[in-house]
Amino acid sequence: MSTWNRLMVIVWATLAVALVACGSGGDAKAPATATAAAKAPAAATAAATPTATPFPAGSSMATIVQKGKLVIGVKYDVPLFGLLDPVTKKVDGFDVAIGKEIAKGLGLREDQIEFVEAITANRIPFLQEDKADLVISTMTINADRKTQIEFSRPYYLAGQSILVKGDNATIKTVADLNGKKVCSVQGSTSEKNVVEKAPQVQLTSFTTYSTCVSAMKDGRVEAVTTDDIILAGFAGVDKTLKLVGGTFTTEPYGIGIKKGKTDLAAFATGVLNSMMTDGRWDKLYAQYPGQAPGLAPAAEARAKVPATP
Ligand code: GLU
Repeated sequence: MSTWNRLMVIVWATLAVALVACGSGGDAKAPATATAAAKAPAAATAAATPTATPFPAGSSMATIVQKGKLVIGVKYDVPLFGLLDPVTKKVDGFDVAIGKEIAKGLGLREDQIEFVEAITANRIPFLQEDKADLVISTMTINADRKTQIEFSRPYYLAGQSILVKGDNATIKTVADLNGKKVCSVQGSTSEKNVVEKAPQVQLTSFTTYSTCVSAMKDGRVEAVTTDDIILAGFAGVDKTLKLVGGTFTTEPYGIGIKKGKTDLAAFATGVLNSMMTDGRWDKLYAQYPGQAPGLAPAAEARAKVPATP
């Protein structure tokens, strides 16, 4: 099965679950868990013991290594970034793969990672309440969020766009969203941006993007708006959908970390810097976001990622 066909099976299985959740009164916010995909070499085992940590005593990194577990909040319904396979219960995508590289940098094995679902509105609370050590969940770095949590350097640059059904002839630009029923997600930059750019929009905000796509498919809304690469993931697995309007914001993605853990933020930035110079970022980009139709080659996409937000 091709990557897209496999993704399509997973996405529609996810949407079916989302629809059932909607019918029964909405999405649950409690974190579900998924295990990491593969086992890392046994050689890394020693790194999980207190004596083996190369990190300063008392640092956030040493604490995680001594605990022997890294909890990472990711999306479960976003193709290419964080998607749960309902059969294997494994999550996969660019954000998930980046999380695995951070774990590797800490000397942890993949089976020492616990992935939990961090929907958009849960990302900052999960960090504040210690429900996750890292949140890697298509999260835009911005001034308001920086007052609440720490961020790594940016690792991806997205921009907000619009998804409509293939036969929609009335929505071509963000201004066309005025007076239209549009879906986005609670707590996202997307819901704020669309109201700024199209003040007469009739906005419905759900908890996940997959429920927005379902709402558009059954005619409750005419468009879905969020980051281009999230929408491209849905359009890639459902050829009846198309992106319109180009991009009308810049959304630099960063890894979220609890406020005050500046050592962990600097560590994550260090891992990302290495990934962006040693070829790992390019390889993962080609494997995930680069799969979407019309995306720039890795080197070009990497050059667009700002070193600081
Ligand atoms: N990147 C935007 C944000 O962080 C939209 C995508 C999302 O909700 O995950 O709010």
